[in-house]
Amino acid sequence: MTEMISVHDLSVEFQLLQSKKWPWSDAAVLKAVNGVSFSVDAGKTLGVVGESGCGKSTLVRAIAGLVKPSAGTVTLEGKPVNYSSRADLQALRRRVQMIFQDPVASLNPRMTIREIVAEPLTMFFPEMDAEARTTRVHALLDRVGIPRRNANRYPHEFSGGQCQRIGIARALAAEPKVLLCDEPVSALDVSIQAQVVNLLQDLQRDMGLTLIFVAHDLGVVRHISDEILVMYLGGMMEKASADDLVNDPQHPYTRALLSAVPVPDPDAKLNPEVLDGDLPSPLNLPTGCLFQSRCPKRFDRCTEQRPQPRFVGERQKACHLEALTV
Ligand code: ADP
Ligand code: MG
Repeated sequence: MTEMISVHDLSVEFQLLQSKKWPWSDAAVLKAVNGVSFSVDAGKTLGVVGESGCGKSTLVRAIAGLVKPSAGTVTLEGKPVNYSSRADLQALRRRVQMIFQDPVASLNPRMTIREIVAEPLTMFFPEMDAEARTTRVHALLDRVGIPRRNANRYPHEFSGGQCQRIGIARALAAEPKVLLCDEPVSALDVSIQAQVVNLLQDLQRDMGLTLIFVAHDLGVVRHISDEILVMYLGGMMEKASADDLVNDPQHPYTRALLSAVPVPDPDAKLNPEVLDGDLPSPLNLPTGCLFQSRCPKRFDRCTEQRPQPRFVGERQKACHLEALTV
């Protein structure tokens, strides 16, 4: 297996503006991503889950170069990306494309879908003539199931699911190796979600794409991911193969997330490990374990020392408990 992309100890901080009311106060630092590491082999899918506000979008936006990492490295096809180099960023944007959560808002409302899909072609393949570009746009629209006779229409004339297909066609125009999918189906009707997920899987198979697929619950990602990374407050809690993570969740946070996935059996016993309380503010991270303030298994060490992710077989987990008995 060849590694396509890896992330080492990546952190992203946002410096918040000083309050106008209290100009002498220190500028606040919001720690959105805290030392995340992982790698994904070519053609594989890494699912990233965690509740809203856990830094999932910031993580993928940092990889895509849309926000600047404050520490850590991203390595693409064996070469570290220098986010301060324009040439590196240009090369990165060609090989790593994003699919956004809000499909309608992510398309320029003043452009026809032909122009939207053609834009990356003009940008990345300047030698392509107009005729070749049209042929390519039509092929891309065909591939995502949008009739080419609609190519001169505007995004508002399409449904959310269709807009996401157009966004996928646009991403594919760059001929990327990696697709970063940031909750690509969360805004769509449940009936449409499976179609878009299936389309992404078909494209992955045909083109050998590597996927990082973000979702706020495990329901969507468990079927399409080879491995799943569970994030909480910007940190990695657990990472394992999708089967191991779902069938034998070991981190208390993973167990709580799983208990939130709807079960088809209405008589199933409710899992007692439901999350209590709110997500703490990333402006003021808990001392010790990031999850300790909501963890049902917390003991002294959890409040004193931050557990580093460690390998247990193929699985990685950041937890002071040796192993939970299921
Ligand atoms: P998720 O995608 O998991 O819901 P996000 O990555 O969007 O989480 O957000 C993580 C944290 O970073 C949140 O507290 C959010 O408010 C904050 N955040 C995200 N983007 C910015 C930004 N541009 N400036 C300041 N804070 C941000
Ligand atoms: Mg998000």
